[in-house]
Amino acid sequence: MSPHTKDRAKKFLLTTVRHEINLTKGLVVYRLLPFSYRIIKCVRRIIISISILSAIYSNKGIEKEYSVREITKELYHKTLRGHLFCPTPGCNARIVYNSGLTPYFKTWKMDNHIEECLHYFDRENRKSGVNTEDLMNVELSVDRKKRAMKEALKLYNMTAEEKAKQSGKSTKRNPKTQGKKNNIATRPVLKDGENEEIVKNEGVRGPNLLKRPVSTLQEKDEGQTRLVIGVLKNVNDSNKGTSILIEDSGKELYLVFEEVFRVNSPEYLGLFHHLEKYQTSKDQEDTIIITAVGQIRKSKSYDGFESSVFYGRDLEIDGIDLRILAMQQS
Ligand SMILES: [Zn+2]
Repeated sequence: MSPHTKDRAKKFLLTTVRHEINLTKGLVVYRLLPFSYRIIKCVRRIIISISILSAIYSNKGIEKEYSVREITKELYHKTLRGHLFCPTPGCNARIVYNSGLTPYFKTWKMDNHIEECLHYFDRENRKSGVNTEDLMNVELSVDRKKRAMKEALKLYNMTAEEKAKQSGKSTKRNPKTQGKKNNIATRPVLKDGENEEIVKNEGVRGPNLLKRPVSTLQEKDEGQTRLVIGVLKNVNDSNKGTSILIEDSGKELYLVFEEVFRVNSPEYLGLFHHLEKYQTSKDQEDTIIITAVGQIRKSKSYDGFESSVFYGRDLEIDGIDLRILAMQQS
C-alpha cells in the first residue's frame, strides 16, 4: 500500500467518525427536543398560573382594577371577596386573593379561564392520571391535618344557625352553571368556605382532606383517607389491641389502631388509658369530640365502617393531641 493510499484511508476514516459524532449529537438533540418542550411548557404553565398580577373588582356597576399590593386582608374580606375577576377582556374567571407572607392572586377553583386567556390552564389534565388518594396520608403534612382537625371541631361545635349562615355564604359563591363541579360542593361535608379555597386547588396543592361526621360516611369513602368526627362513646384498650368507638347522629364508627400505628407512632402506645381517665373525669352530659384522620373500610366484625389511624398525631380529643392530653392528666 502506498503512503498516499494510507493517507487517504486515514482521512476517510476521520471524516466518517466526525460525521458519526455529528450525527449522534444531532440525534441526541433531536430525541431530547420533545422533553425540553414539555419542560418549557410545564414551567410556562406554572409561571403563568401563579402570576396573575391584577384583578378586576366588579360589583353593582362598580369596576376597579387592583394589584396584589393594593389589597389588604380586611379590604378583601369586607368588599372584594367573590367579586374579583381575571383582567383579560372577555375572561370571566373569578380570582381569589391569598393573603400571607407573600400575597398573590389565583384562579378560583370553580372557574376556568377562556383558552385565549394568558392565565388559561388545563385543570382536567392535571387532575387525571395518577390517583393520589392512596398517597394522601403520606402527602398531607402534619400541619395541614392538624389544621383540618381544628376546623372540623369548630364546625362540629357550631350551632345549626351558625352552620346555616356558613353554608348560605358558600352557596352564594358557587356558580350554579357548573353542575359537575357543584356536586362536589353540595356533598354532605363539613366545610369552611375559606378552607375550601385554600386547600382545594386541584392538581396544584394535592388532594383535599375530606371531613366526614360519622353519620355522613358513604360507600365511596371506602378505601379513602378521611377526617372523621364524632362523639366519644368508649375506649377499648387491651393487649388484644386498641380501638375507640365514636358516634354521630345514631351512627357508630370504630377507630382502630393497628400494627401500622404501632410502628409509626410508638410514642403514643400506652397513652390510651389517659383518654379513659379523661372520659371518666367529665360529667355524663359533657360530650367529648374526637377528630381523626384515617383510612375508611368496611368492618369485618359489624355492619358499618371503621377507620384505621396511621399516626398518633392524626387523633385529637376535643382538639387536643393524645400526648398533650396525657401530660395534662398526669
Ligand atoms: Zn382569564
